[in-house]
Amino acid sequence: MTDVPPDGRSSQRAIRRANLSSVARLVAAEGPRSRATIALRTGFNKSTVSSLVAELLDLGLLAETGQDEHPGRVGRPARTISLSGGAVAAAGLEVNVDHLAVCIVDLAGQLLHSERLVAANGAGSPGPVLDELARLADTAIAAVESRGVRVLGAGVALPGLVDRRDGRLVVAPNLGWRELPVGAELARRLDRPGLLLTIDNEANLAALAEHWDGAARDLDDFVCVSGEVGIGGGVVIAGELFRGTHGFGGELGHVVVDPAGARCACGARGCLETVAGQAAVLRAAGVPPRAGGAELLARADAGEVRALAALDAAGHALGIALTAVVNVLDPEAVLLGGYLTPFTPWLEGPVTAELGRRVLASAWSGCEIRAAGLAEGAAVRGAAAGVLRWILADPALIAAMPHESGAVRYASPVGR
Ligand SMILES: [Zn+2]
Repeated sequence: MTDVPPDGRSSQRAIRRANLSSVARLVAAEGPRSRATIALRTGFNKSTVSSLVAELLDLGLLAETGQDEHPGRVGRPARTISLSGGAVAAAGLEVNVDHLAVCIVDLAGQLLHSERLVAANGAGSPGPVLDELARLADTAIAAVESRGVRVLGAGVALPGLVDRRDGRLVVAPNLGWRELPVGAELARRLDRPGLLLTIDNEANLAALAEHWDGAARDLDDFVCVSGEVGIGGGVVIAGELFRGTHGFGGELGHVVVDPAGARCACGARGCLETVAGQAAVLRAAGVPPRAGGAELLARADAGEVRALAALDAAGHALGIALTAVVNVLDPEAVLLGGYLTPFTPWLEGPVTAELGRRVLASAWSGCEIRAAGLAEGAAVRGAAAGVLRWILADPALIAAMPHESGAVRYASPVGR
């Protein structure tokens, strides 16, 4: 590679792109602001701000609120600009072992559509599952767009290792899927010209959703445990998701809690999810899988001995697995998400007991065990919110969007 001197026009475009992003992210972070305040906060001059705001209004990302920034103050009113609600949105899609989910969220954070469908996705081949997901997504997007909202992109949450660079699911043990180009397969099925499409691991998206809109808004260092049939983990360090070298980090469900334990779907023995995954806990509690978490909750509430014993065993296993994470990372809190959320009152005791026994710093630090805020909707909400944040970080993405022709575009917000 040789250094190429920057072409004047392309570097100007790059600066404009970065400036659009600064304004959009400022309004997203701070709420409605006047052009004068945006100029003050970004350091851009007023005419630059006016031109950037005009472009963001044009793209539908910002809207005039009609409100004065300082009502009652003497002088010319300073009208504020905010993120636009009900104009542009993104879809979140989720494939999990026992359900499909779709939601659509607008830039102001309003949930415009939400749907969850029970489905035995691990039972067959991926083709029909992706057909059904694409159908759900198409119907939801069409319904929202008929109300005048533009859906700019879709994020897909998957319960396994994903390679975001090319949209490939590497392996999802509980689905029995391996080496599947989910991004390309869905792009082919969605008849949505110009739609941005991206995929991510469901536990990572759940952790981000909790950090942005859920129970971890006040936390910078935390672990979010996502309990489904399997168990996923999302690790946030210094406010950023920690993905590891290959993007495969956070696989808490496959931390070993009993080397001689039951065989896991991944091929190893005694992984955490063989004891604390939803299927394992229901089995231990004697609750039929179809009755699900609601039945387990009812039995736990009623004080049924077998249900309480199953939850106690799951809590101790969780505590043992989390010991490794807490000893290494020293997080402020662990969030219990997915099916685990309503069981936090029963799990907290055994988890805390194991951490107290096994974490060296436990006498001086303490790590809070907290119920997640978005529970089972976290991953799909995170998938939609991730696309919206990606667009706010680079509004030029949609400026270049072909609306009349072209195909769905698989893309990866690598580094975000
Ligand atoms: Zn495993």
